[in-house]
Amino acid sequence: MVAGNWKMNGLSGDAVHLTQAILNAGLEPMRPEVVLFPPFTLLHAVSQEAKSSALRWGGQNLFWEASGAYTGEISGAMLRDMGCRYVLLGHSERRQIFGETDAQVAQKVKAALHSGLIPVVCVGESEAERAQGATESVLRRQVEAVLHLLNLDANQPNMIIAYEPIWAIGTGLSATPEQAQAAHAFIRTLVVAHSEHLAKRLLLLYGGSVKGNNAAALFDQEDIDGGLVGGASLQAGEFVQICRAAE
Ligand code: 13P
Repeated sequence: MVAGNWKMNGLSGDAVHLTQAILNAGLEPMRPEVVLFPPFTLLHAVSQEAKSSALRWGGQNLFWEASGAYTGEISGAMLRDMGCRYVLLGHSERRQIFGETDAQVAQKVKAALHSGLIPVVCVGESEAERAQGATESVLRRQVEAVLHLLNLDANQPNMIIAYEPIWAIGTGLSATPEQAQAAHAFIRTLVVAHSEHLAKRLLLLYGGSVKGNNAAALFDQEDIDGGLVGGASLQAGEFVQICRAAE
């Protein structure tokens, strides 16, 4: 899977242009699955362009309540209504800038599954945490907060985890394929310990300065099943190059 997180970028015209450019690139349908995460305001425009194609789209966040007096929030049902199949949850920018906690992210994951969305749960350590040798303990805390809650669920959910080391996001300094592989392998062991069933179909995406020129080496790693692309997903040519690296 290759996913493009547009973050807080773009107006309607950009959404139409970018989506059309990706559709016109002649990518092999579903190989990889390509997913766009535009801002909420552009979901309609993207869905209109992509509705009869293999391209998928999702929201960048949701609130766990189904409806009500929660000014400024968006529910899972609203995302489904926009044709979303996926939702990004726990992005480090949500955690750092908006103070989302592990417990809140877990609650959102539960709500997403309840709405029939596939959550793409983002985890990753900061530069200081890596320097302190705390990468694995941070990943364990973030992943287990979610798995713990799902433990209560009888039916085994479909979920994707994106490893996004904070020091690699928007810095141009990607994790090396070896660093990323080590983190992914660790995350997979956490999931296997919880549920072999979930582990079997779990996709693990790498995010953090994925570009056209480093994607292939990252995607070649055994436990890297694709990428979550930020900045480079706003440039159609570069994003298509990354998708081709995953074919
Ligand atoms: P960049 O690709 O811009 O580093 O962003 C990664 C990211 O945060 C995707 O969610």
